[in-house]
Amino acid sequence: MTFPDHRVGEPIADTKAPAGPVAERWDTRRFQAKLVNPANRRKHRIIVVGTGLAGGSAGATLAEQGYQVVQFCFQDSPRRAHSIAAQGGINAAKNYRNDGDSIHRLFYDTVKGGDFRARESNVHRLAQISVEIIDQCVAQGVPFAREYGGLLDTRSFGGVQVSRTFYARGQTGQQLLLGAYQALSRQIAAGNVEMHARTEMLDLVVVDGRARGIVARDLITGEISTHYADAVVLATGGYGNVFYLSTNAMNSNATAVWRAHRRGAYFANPCFTQIHPTCIPRTGDHQSKLTLMSESLRNDGRIWVPKAKGDTRPAADIPEGERDYYLERIYPSFGNLVPRDIASRAAKNVCDEGRGVGPGGEGVYLDFADAIRRMGRAAVEEKYGNLFDMYERITAENPYEVPMRIYPAVHYTMGGLWVDYDLQTTVPGLFAIGEANFSDHGANRLGASALMQGLADGYFVLPATVNDYLARHPHAEPVTDDHPAVREVLAETEDRLNLLLAVDGDRTPDSFHRELGTLMWEYCGMARTEEGLRKALRRIPEIREEFWNRVKVPGTGAEFNQSLEKANRVVDYLELAELMCLDALHRAESCGGHFREEHRTPDGEAARRDEEFAYVAAWEFDGGGAPVLHKEDLTFEYVHPTQRSYA
Ligand SMILES: Cc1cc2nc3c(=O)[nH]c(=O)nc-3n(C[C@H](O)[C@H](O)[C@H](O)COP(=O)(O)OP(=O)(O)OC[C@H]3O[C@@H](n4cnc5c(N)ncnc54)[C@H](O)[C@@H]3O)c2cc1C
Repeated sequence: MTFPDHRVGEPIADTKAPAGPVAERWDTRRFQAKLVNPANRRKHRIIVVGTGLAGGSAGATLAEQGYQVVQFCFQDSPRRAHSIAAQGGINAAKNYRNDGDSIHRLFYDTVKGGDFRARESNVHRLAQISVEIIDQCVAQGVPFAREYGGLLDTRSFGGVQVSRTFYARGQTGQQLLLGAYQALSRQIAAGNVEMHARTEMLDLVVVDGRARGIVARDLITGEISTHYADAVVLATGGYGNVFYLSTNAMNSNATAVWRAHRRGAYFANPCFTQIHPTCIPRTGDHQSKLTLMSESLRNDGRIWVPKAKGDTRPAADIPEGERDYYLERIYPSFGNLVPRDIASRAAKNVCDEGRGVGPGGEGVYLDFADAIRRMGRAAVEEKYGNLFDMYERITAENPYEVPMRIYPAVHYTMGGLWVDYDLQTTVPGLFAIGEANFSDHGANRLGASALMQGLADGYFVLPATVNDYLARHPHAEPVTDDHPAVREVLAETEDRLNLLLAVDGDRTPDSFHRELGTLMWEYCGMARTEEGLRKALRRIPEIREEFWNRVKVPGTGAEFNQSLEKANRVVDYLELAELMCLDALHRAESCGGHFREEHRTPDGEAARRDEEFAYVAAWEFDGGGAPVLHKEDLTFEYVHPTQRSYA
């Protein structure tokens, strides 16, 4: 049995980041960018797919600038995008605490936290813009938590030693999204945004090498439609649900980015997946979703397991001297606030040693007893009350009285569509923002940095760089349904859906998704080996073949049909999963969340191989043949690669 090998193509030489001191590059780029005069903006249409924090902020801002925006989401309302689930907070280098924070420190922490696999230019820009985001959101009325004196409050997240995470209780994503949504709603009411909810993009229209539109399906009526524009923005979120079980919203999927990849957009670092250390452990095979317990809990909760293997006594019966607060022991400087990749691996290690707690031994304690003693229950409730309530509703255990049990789970994808400094993909006119792109977080994202990136991209970066693209391509020929490129993509979409309906087999799309997810977790999850990845690469094409022979999709395409929606998403997962494993196999090093067991330091940490792998792996789709690898070398002028140390 063979698996798809890969070819190495031309390296990516130019990311469009200007030269010069890193702190000046964003100003330089904005000054060099061409502008579109306000009267001409209303002549341009821009499609934005997605209404989460990235898409919502981008759509509102572009419409505010005067562009005609056509926007899509598959939920029934833009404000139900997955971003609403974000709990913990958003980073910004405001230094309100006067605890030594600065733009440079946020830049440094993010490059280091990403295990030196992110671009310095982008990360520095992100750190600069972080401060503007907070001002923008406050102006919108986002109710950030405040201190007694009235200043915005902050807390700490993993991988940093300052307190720079702004939050709105445990509902930060929801409050930020309501801010973006109200700005978007204003533009919808003004007629500047044409909003299509319950409409799913199924493919990208590329005409003469440029992104010019999308093919979409109305999820209520099943009607397939085409939409055209001068530029297309994908803000379609992450693809963590390829693993079936994750903390992502159940409908989050990979279709938009995968279809764009098939039309020419490179896919970067697809194997870089974040496994979050603090999720509620699985309770069996019946589950279709996992629940995150916010990282903010690690500010006050202490993580421990029994020192002895197989100790099944209730937590309260285990004396202090027989507990192992292993993060505090191994990483005394950062303690419970080490980055996610490190905390997740440490949890896996103690469970693998037989010291895990709870059913199946896949759990560690997150204990608030000390915090309750120190701060009082009321203060803990004030800070984390809604998270504690959620935990109790799911587990029927009261975390004020017994420690929470947590275990790592798939949470975020650092990989995504490759974009240059302008957030443009390799298909001219196609931009990707938010979790849908690969930028900024390297091999491991620091907590509270996704909301920062999504809003930086949507409110600030994209609106500046789209101008430049449109100013340079002002007179695009109108595209109609008669164009051969449109006819081809429409026919392919309809054929795919019809084929899915025609198989009429005996297995649900969900059963294939679960099988794929289990395989991915086993071989491309928290720890990866060459042998395991080769096994997965042999097995995925077999599952795919079986899928196309045995999937059962009842009903028709001309109606509300969730089975068809699901099956179509599984088609894309089955292809993307293969690229993820190939990427993980080719990257014979450990870095961040990508832990190859063969490559570890003597004390068990991830061992990077900078000489060979200090690059972004950008994969080109080659019509179903061997994927082509284009390397974008990473250079570090300001934060020099070292073995990450949090001890
Ligand atoms: C439980 C949880 C908690 C989190 N907490 C935090 C936190 O505290 N801080 C932090 O920084 N990060 C957090 N994250 C990560 C963060 O929430 C996400 O990375 C971020 O919200 C992604 O935003 P986005 O706008 O890129 O995409 P999303 O919010 O996922 O939005 C995607 C949008 O695209 C649309 N879409 C997708 N595909 C299609 C298609 N084919 N056709 C039409 N529309 C489509 C969807 O309808 C949706 O509107 C958390 C993640 C999870 C899972």
